[in-house]
Amino acid sequence: MKAAVMEELGRLVVKDVPTPEIDDDSALLRVEAVSICGSDVRILNYGNPRVQPPAIIGHEAAGAIVQAGKNVTRVKVGDRVALGADVPCGQCNWCRNGLGNNCAINYAIGYQIPGAFAQFMKLSRLVLEEGPVTRISDTLPFEIAAFAEPLACAINGFELVNLSLGKSVVIIGLGPIGCAMIDLARQMGATKVIGVQRSQLRMDIAKSYEADVYINPREEDVVARCRAETGGEGPDIVITACGSVEAHEQAVEMVAHRGYVNLFGGLKKGTRPMSLLSNTIHYKECFVTGSHGSTPRQHELAVQLLEKGLVRVEPLLTHHFPLSDINRGFEVMDSKQGMKIVIHPNQV
Ligand SMILES: [Zn+2]
Ligand SMILES: [Zn+2]
Repeated sequence: MKAAVMEELGRLVVKDVPTPEIDDDSALLRVEAVSICGSDVRILNYGNPRVQPPAIIGHEAAGAIVQAGKNVTRVKVGDRVALGADVPCGQCNWCRNGLGNNCAINYAIGYQIPGAFAQFMKLSRLVLEEGPVTRISDTLPFEIAAFAEPLACAINGFELVNLSLGKSVVIIGLGPIGCAMIDLARQMGATKVIGVQRSQLRMDIAKSYEADVYINPREEDVVARCRAETGGEGPDIVITACGSVEAHEQAVEMVAHRGYVNLFGGLKKGTRPMSLLSNTIHYKECFVTGSHGSTPRQHELAVQLLEKGLVRVEPLLTHHFPLSDINRGFEVMDSKQGMKIVIHPNQV
């Protein structure tokens, strides 16, 4: 089969590799769509302790089961499935209690487990028994189903901020996840959604999600405007869906008393520490939370939202490439000229 192999830092080579062989307990997935995640770009350029080159990365995937071992009951040949990234080990306390994204081993597809930038992928016994492998309907396009992975991460973030009917939500950073969060916030009851985004290209796409207010931090003071938009009190909930420490600081600064902040977007290694008067948290009685990754339960929820069209993905799919052009896809990611870049490994 053809696969894009990360040979070393910064070098991704499309080449022939052996098609994975399955045993009685595993299944073979033909990958039909896999989108490039910001973390794939970071892994390729800076490496990751959980990825040992040569490696096949890629985790935002969907495809069809083409072979299944005789002991496999979770899927059968012909099933269409979406994959998440984090695979619970099934053994530790976190995994046994449904919080596998906090597992110390933190197995993940496209990390320790060979990923989806390939024509085929082996779904091992562990992935099938514990992992985020979710059946999708015949009508859900693979490229939309692939978005269940990032959407599951967004759901994880939103489950930590006590969102309910009538709340105001600020989302800082309107990349693909930030845009999907606008729809997600509405589904969870937010009556005022404010989006913050610097680049015009992303802002233009984000506008199709019809947040109540859009703010460009180049043009105005984000904290002051968010306060003004929420009757001077500040928003109930602030999510940082970007990789900026300034956004973390602004989030705590603007959030209402008793409000919730979720530091959703991770920061590059070496970023300066967040600067914060801890008395701000003290006097506001606010909650500062973080989140990363997702659990299989959240992946199933994400698929349900996509099946019902409750979170829209179409406006985000700006680029499509066959596997042979995957490096062009990474260039588009690097240049921030797109939103979601979808690779179709079995399309020539
Ligand atoms: Zn991802
Ligand atoms: Zn575990």
